[in-house]
Amino acid sequence: MRMVPQRQAVETLKRGFELGVNFVHTAPDYEGAEDLVAQAIEESGRRVMVFTQGYGNPAHFEWLFEMACLRAKKKTLDVFGIACVEDRESLNENVWGPGGMIEFLLRKKREGRLRSIFAESHGTPEYIRRLIESRVFDSILLAYNTLGFHALSYFPEPPATFENVPRNKLEIFPLARQHNVSILLMKSLGGGLACPGKAFPSRVRFSAEQNPLAAGEILRYLLEDPDVTAVVPGTASVEEAEENAKAGFAEPRINAEQEKKVESASAGMVQSLCTRCGYCDALCSRKLPVSWLFRDAYISGIGAETFETLDRLQYFHLHPDEASTCGTCDNVTCECPAGLDVKRELMHVHAAMVELKQAGKLPLTPSAIAEQQPRGPWSAKSILAEIPATWSRGASQLCRVWWENAGAVKWIPANHWTKYTGLNLVAKIGHAQQAVALRHEVEPNTRTHFSFEMTAPREPGCYSLQLFLKSVGTDIQHASDEDLEICSFPVQVE
Ligand code: SF4
Ligand code: SF4
Repeated sequence: MRMVPQRQAVETLKRGFELGVNFVHTAPDYEGAEDLVAQAIEESGRRVMVFTQGYGNPAHFEWLFEMACLRAKKKTLDVFGIACVEDRESLNENVWGPGGMIEFLLRKKREGRLRSIFAESHGTPEYIRRLIESRVFDSILLAYNTLGFHALSYFPEPPATFENVPRNKLEIFPLARQHNVSILLMKSLGGGLACPGKAFPSRVRFSAEQNPLAAGEILRYLLEDPDVTAVVPGTASVEEAEENAKAGFAEPRINAEQEKKVESASAGMVQSLCTRCGYCDALCSRKLPVSWLFRDAYISGIGAETFETLDRLQYFHLHPDEASTCGTCDNVTCECPAGLDVKRELMHVHAAMVELKQAGKLPLTPSAIAEQQPRGPWSAKSILAEIPATWSRGASQLCRVWWENAGAVKWIPANHWTKYTGLNLVAKIGHAQQAVALRHEVEPNTRTHFSFEMTAPREPGCYSLQLFLKSVGTDIQHASDEDLEICSFPVQVE
C-alpha cells in the first residue's frame, strides 16, 4: 500500500471488501496504511476486521491499541496482536512479564475491549509452537507458500532464529488445529517470487517456469488446506483485489489437475531459484556472500518491496564492482547441494542488476547515501526516484520517490490527527502542481514513500519535474521553491 497512490490503495481495499474480504492485516509501521484501511472501511460501509499490531514499551503498546480503537471508532476491537513476537523478545521488550504485552491484552479481553489476540511470527517452528501452547493467541500469522521460502527468506548461522516455511506446514498447522488456533498465511505468494504481480509487474523473473502461475491459482490451492483459515496476500491494485478475493469464493473449487499444476510449477521454480540456504556462503573463493546477492537481486527484480531490505544488504554494497566477480573467477569453489549452477546464475543475476542500476531502479547504496547532502529545510535525501524520462502529453504518469529524513526534526503529516500543521510533497511540472500527502510521521533517519500520479503537460517539449517538501501552516511555506526543492528530473513530453 505504501508504494501506490493513496486513491489506488483505498480503491483496492474497497474492491476487496465489496467482494467479501472481511479482514485486513496492517501495522503502525506500514507508512500510514492503518489510516488508508480505516478510510476504505468507512467508504465501503462494510464490517471488516482489522488485524493491526503493537510493539515497544508497555505505554507505547497501550497507545497503539487505543489508536486502533480511535481509528475504528470503536471501544472494543475484534482483534489486536503483537508484531513479530520473537523480535519483541530479542529487543528486550516486555512481552510475557508483569505489566507486559500479554498481560495487557488479556486484561483488555476481560474488560470486554478485545475479542481476540493474534501473534505475527517469523520465528522458528519451535518458537511458534511455544506461542500456540501458551494458549494466549487465537490466531497466528505466519509464512507459508508453495515454494517453501519467500523473497525475504534467509537462513542464519545456527542456532536457527528464522522461520522454516516447510516445517510451518508439517508441524505448526496440525498443532494449531489441535489447539483451535487459526492459521493466517503471510508470504502466501512468496513475496512476489511465486507469480508475477499485476500492480508491480516483475522487472526480471529469475525463475525458469514456462507457464507462470496466477495468484488466484496459488491462493485457491492454499485455501484448500483445512488447516488454513485465511491467506493474506499483498494486494496493490483493483485487479489484484479481484483476483485475490475471488480465490476465497467457495466455487469453483480447485480440481486435481490445477492442484498438480501449482505443485509442479512450484517445484520447477525452486529448482531454478536460490532458496538462501546459506550453504555456499562460506565456499566462495572470492568471499562473495552468495545467498545475500541472490536475495537482493530477487527482491529488486520483483520491485515491490523496499521496506524489509537493509542498506548493508544491497547488492551493489556487497558487490561494488560493475564487472561480475564470477565472470573472471578461475577458482570455482562454490557448490550448491540443490543443483544450482551458482556461477552461471550469479552472472545472470549480476547482468540483470547492472541493467536495473543503469535504469535508475535501485536505491542508492550506503556510500552514495552518505555522500548526498540533505536538501531543503527538512533535510531530505532522495534514496530512490522512479520518474519516467518520457511522458505522453496529457496522460497520467505514475511517479514514486523514497526519501529519508536526514535532519533532526520529525516530519509530521498534515492529516486529520494533527489538523494544524504538517508536510506535503509538492510536485510541479510546467504550470501544473499538486500536493501529495505525507502519510505518516517520519522520525529522523527513517524513510517514507511518496507515490502519485501527475498529468503530463499538453504541449510537447522538455520539462523539469520539481519535487519539494512544503509545510502547511508555517512560515516556511513562504520560502521560495528554489530553497525548498529536494530534487528535480528532466522529462520529455511527446
Ligand atoms: S564462481 Fe563466483 S561464487 Fe563461485 S567461487 Fe567463483 S566468485 Fe565465488
Ligand atoms: S546457491 Fe544453493 S547452496 Fe547457495 S545459498 Fe542458494 S540454494 Fe543454498
